[in-house]
Formats: sequence, C-alpha cells, structure tokens
Amino acid sequence: MAEGEATGVADAVLLAPLTEDTFLHNLHVRFKRDVIYTYVGNALISVNPCRPLPLYSADLVRAYLARPPYTLPPHLYAITVTAYRWVRDRNESQCIVITGESGAGKTEAARVCLQCAAVAGGGGGERLAAAGTLLEAFGNAATTRNHNASRFGKLLEIEFDFKGEPVGGHITHYLLEKERTCSVSEGERNFHVLYQLLAGADVHLLKRLRLQRSWEHYRVLRGEALDAALSPRRSPAPPRAAPPEHARDNEHFAFTKAAMASLGFTGAECGAVLRVLAFVLKLGNVQFEPQHNIDGSIGVRLEQQYELVEACALVGVEAAELAAALGAPPLSHRDPDAEEEEMARSEDVEDSVEGEEDGEGSAEWASALRDRLLCALYSRLFTWLINSVNEAIKPAAAGKRCSLGILDVYGFERLARNGLERLLINYAAERVQAAVTGATLRREQDDYAREGLPWRPLRYADHEAHADLLDAGPDSLLAALRDARTDAAFLQRLQRRRHPRLLPDPPDRFQVVHFGGAVTYCARGIVDKNRDAVSARLSAVLGAAREPLLAALFAGRESPRRVCALACRQRALVAALVRRLGPAPRLVRCLRPDAGLRPHRWDAPLLRHQLRSQGILDMALLRRAGWCESMCARALVARYGVLQGARGGPSASASPRASPAPRDCPLRAARALLRSLPIPSAEFAYGRTKVFIRSPRTVWELEALRSAR
Ligand code: ADP
Ligand code: MG
Repeated sequence: MAEGEATGVADAVLLAPLTEDTFLHNLHVRFKRDVIYTYVGNALISVNPCRPLPLYSADLVRAYLARPPYTLPPHLYAITVTAYRWVRDRNESQCIVITGESGAGKTEAARVCLQCAAVAGGGGGERLAAAGTLLEAFGNAATTRNHNASRFGKLLEIEFDFKGEPVGGHITHYLLEKERTCSVSEGERNFHVLYQLLAGADVHLLKRLRLQRSWEHYRVLRGEALDAALSPRRSPAPPRAAPPEHARDNEHFAFTKAAMASLGFTGAECGAVLRVLAFVLKLGNVQFEPQHNIDGSIGVRLEQQYELVEACALVGVEAAELAAALGAPPLSHRDPDAEEEEMARSEDVEDSVEGEEDGEGSAEWASALRDRLLCALYSRLFTWLINSVNEAIKPAAAGKRCSLGILDVYGFERLARNGLERLLINYAAERVQAAVTGATLRREQDDYAREGLPWRPLRYADHEAHADLLDAGPDSLLAALRDARTDAAFLQRLQRRRHPRLLPDPPDRFQVVHFGGAVTYCARGIVDKNRDAVSARLSAVLGAAREPLLAALFAGRESPRRVCALACRQRALVAALVRRLGPAPRLVRCLRPDAGLRPHRWDAPLLRHQLRSQGILDMALLRRAGWCESMCARALVARYGVLQGARGGPSASASPRASPAPRDCPLRAARALLRSLPIPSAEFAYGRTKVFIRSPRTVWELEALRSAR
C-alpha cells in the first residue's frame, strides 16, 4: 500500500508482524487522521468517530461504482458497491452483516449502506430511508451507552430489478426491548416517539389527545430515580442525568410525521397511532395503591382515575371494564350491581397468570398487569408499524428477485438492569457472532483440510460453543427456560448443569459469561415473562375498543397453550437469520473507541476487549495465512472461461465456446485458464475440487477483466 506511515496500512492483513498490538496501533494511527475504515481482507473495520465526518456523498458512491474498489481507500461504499454488483451482475443475494457493541456505529453504518445502495441503483430508496427514520423513532431510545440505541434488531432486504434498480424491500425485526415501555432506568429514556409527541404536537393536538406538554408528567417517561424523587414532593427538578436529546424531540417529531406521510400512512392511521401512544402515556400514570378496608382486608385504591377515564375515552374502551380487568375496584360512578355481574362474567375468561394466590385484589398485582399490558400494547403497535411499512415498500410486481440484505443486529450489552429481554438480545448477538466468526474459522479451515491444501490449523476462540450453550440441546439455557414452570426450577436446572459459563446465583439471579463479557441477569419473574401472555380478559376489553387500530392489536386471541414463548420465538428468528446470512456474508465490524462516545478519545483497553470478544484478530490471522475466497473449479471456468481466448495464453487461438480443456477435469482447465491471465500465480491455490483465491483484489481483477471483455 502506498499510503505510507501517515495513515497506516489500509488492509490490516498486510501488517508485519500481525499482532494485537500492531493491529491496534494501525487503527489508532488511522483514527487520529480521521481514517475510520480499515480492511481485514474482505471485511471492513469501522471505528466510530463519535462526531460527523465528511465521508459520505453521492459523488463518492459513483466513484466507488466507477473504479475497482481496491484502487480507492477502504470504505463502507466499497463493501456495499461490491455486494450490489454481485446482486446485479451475478444474480446472487448478498448480505452485509454489521456487528459490534452498542454504540459502536452499527445503525449509522446500516444507514450509509442503504444510501449507497440507493445511489448505486440509480436513485429511489426514499421510502426505505423513511422506513429507517420511522423505526428509529418507535424502536430507539437513549441508554447509558448510546443516546440513540436501537432497541430491536433489523434485517433490511433491498430488492433490485433486472436493471439493478431498487424496486422495494422488506424488513424483518427481532425482539423489541418492550420492557422499556413501562420502566426506564436512571439516565435512560423510553422510546423516542413518546417524547417527540409531547414536544412536537401543537396545542390543538395535545388538547385532543388530553396530554400535557411536559414529559415529566408521565410516569413511564420519568425513569425510576426521578419518579422516586418526585413522588413525595413533586419537585420540578430535572433528572440528574437527563439525556441531551430532549432538545431535538420537537424537530424529530416533524421527521417522524413526514416519514409516515411518505410511507403512505393516511391521516386517519397517523391519528390512530398517536391516540394509542397517548393511551400508553396516560394509562402508565394510573396507579394502584393498597387500601385497608373496614373489614380488615386489604384492597386496591385507584389513583389518577381521571387519566384512566380520559385514556379510555380517546380510544373507545370502557374505563370501568379496563379497571376491573386490571383488578381495581369499581370506578366511583359505577353501578355496583353491574360491577358484580361483570366480575362474575369475567371470572370465566381469566386465564392462568401467576400470582393468583395473592388475589387479584393486590395493588402490586394490578400494577404488574398494567405494566404488562403497556409493554404488550407498545410491542404490538411496533409490529403493526413494521407490517404496514413492509406493505408500503413491497415491490409492485411479484416475483423472485435477488436482494441485498443489511443486518443491523443489536450489539451485546450490559446495562444497569438485565432481564429476560437483555438475555435474548445478547443471545442473538452471540449466535450471529458465532455464525460470522466461529463458523467461518471452522468451515474454512475444514475446507482447506478437505481440499488437501498445506495448512497449519489456527487456534481460535470457539464462539460456536458459547452460542450452543445457550440454545442447543436439552441442557441449554433456553431449553431450561422453556421447560421450567417456576423461576426457582429454572435456577435449579442451571445449578444441575454446573457449567462455568452459566452460574446460578439464587434466589433470583444468574450470570452468563457471553463472548462480550459476563452479565448478571435477574431471574425474578423470568418464566412468566417468557410466556409473554396478556390475560384473556384484558385482551377482550381492548379488543372491543372502538378505535379500530387498538382493537386490531388485540384481535384474534390466542389460546395460552398455543402461545410460543418469547425465547422460542427469538430462537426461531435467529436460526432463520443465520440461514439467510449464508456461508459468506460481508462483514462490517464496528468498534467503539470510547465508553462515553466522546470524540478524539482512544480507550485502548476497551478496543482491545472488542477485538478479542469479536474474534477480529483470529479472522485477520486466518485471512493472512489463508485465502479470501474459494470457487468450485467448474464454476470458475464457467464464469471466467471467456477470458482465455483473449489473453494469448496457451489456448490463444481457441474460441471461448470451444474450450480446449478437457471437460472432465475442471481443475486442470481452471489452472490453464488462470495461468493465461496477467495475475501472479501465487494468488491461487488448487485443491481437489476448488480453486482458492488469496486476496480480495484478485477477485476484483478477475471481475474487471471479465467486464472489460
Ligand atoms: P449502534 O447502532 O452500534 O448502537 P449507532 O449507530 O447508534 O451505534 O451510533 C452511536 C452514535 O455514534 C450515533 O448516534 C452517532 O452519533 C455516532 N456515530 C456512529 N457512527 C458514526 C459515523 N460513521 N460518523 C459519525 N458519527 C457516528
Ligand atoms: Mg443501533
């Protein structure tokens, strides 16, 4: 590489020697010059600059389209353009997998890839970009690690027509962290759109929705610390760690509305979505307090009843029925006879939710029901939005096309509180990591051995074994969760397993040592959360709402037995995802140079940890000693056979159609073909059935030669 010392080495595989230290030093040298991208063979490393850099433009995309990417510096555009060409010219579906910890820049990278693919395809893609904006508003939140952290994973598949123009797409989403809807840890926020609505709605809209402007008014937005501080004194002091994004909520509400409009949501649909959001905010304020009855029993007192009544009026739900379904006493104006009848009738529909022995009357129980309802409501709204978006971005004409997938899967994370959802997020991150690193290291080395190449096996961290511990076989963590009937039984299963990476910590915690580090999870209520059921009675009440959207979210009640538990759903989705990635996804590994995402910071231990946990150096060593790509000799001859006639090699006189190589020995034919090309022979190795290609550049040169024909 002619880049010289100033910007280090563009492909870390070329470092000599290649060690963790030289690797990291090279990234740092480049980072100090605002060079955030570096190759590791055909994968790309991206270090989050934590501030905007002028690295992106349509002209630059066109430059990467016009020239072979290895003649330009490493860039996301190079990866995306290469994938795009493979889709357009080779009719092969491609997938770009973006991994990294929370805050490493995955979602930004996915956005850049999408823009690049849209420009490469000759425009379009506005709807896909709008879909991104919309999903961010509803599915992202500020956490302590990232002020705009995605709380769901997504695979965006862009479909192209035969001319290579984007004609539509499809989004698959992975488990939304819905628990956030009902409680927010200190220094974090609920989903952006809830704040956006309060900050951005004009007074008329606020009035129609019966909302107050200040977000501090809403319990689900306040976060626990502030909530605790406010409840006795109602001091107006802002939270200590109020994240700065409040300042732009107003502006972002306009973006969210514009995105909905450009995706074809009607005014009525937008109105319905906002009413459901207002319902969530207001229902969240309804509190249940224990009350000592005259007869000595303990009942429930309903606080903020007006919020309940107003919320229900917004969406056409019977407030009294909702209160009763939550286990609250009759509303003050209710006819007691009707209420009794109601209770009797609803007894039949009540299904088996735990805690019945405490009695439905307990305040805590009612609060838990309310919270579960809020979470279910929000996540169903989110799924409905994604389905609507998918309708809007669906290609006009049906038919099987090749697609370019961009996977922005959630990063491994450890927050103040880690429950079932965090476990499932980290599980997905672990499985994807195993698929893109562990499986690659194993598969490629197996391939070298099978094909009889000279190869000294590398030792590497076995990510697949980590992931298997979570999801494979009857002893895995997810199987234990599926089978256990109580939290204690679940912990006992772990105890019996006695694995150093799965450590139960009774009575109510357990630790899992993930590839990214150890995380302690709370086991309280985990079995029940996994069931993810909303009581049939609550479903019936909301399913009868006059607001069609709300009714639709609770239509078609599932029988509790048929409900697929959260963990099982996530496992199936992740398995399908891994199949979709295929054996050779294009990798973008994002790194976070500073825990606080401050610009110009370089936390070497933090980076070292990420290199190790993602197995990046293992991959670099594999790429350095091994080959970047392999092709069946037969396929290679079929694709590049046309080059032989033109190059004046041993078969210069033969026409490409009448190849002189014996058809029964594709390997010999491939060797003859490649020798005739102006590419050093050290670039190729010949196995029993396959040809291995040393560097990505050679793959490109072959393609360039072919298209020049
Ligand atoms: P992740 O999805 O991995 O959690 P994000 O993509 O949300 O991380 O990035 C976190 C923040 O870092 C972004 O909000 C943005 O401010 C900054 N950032 C990430 N990538 C870039 C980039 N390429 N250029 C500038 N800023 C970036
Ligand atoms: Mg993200």
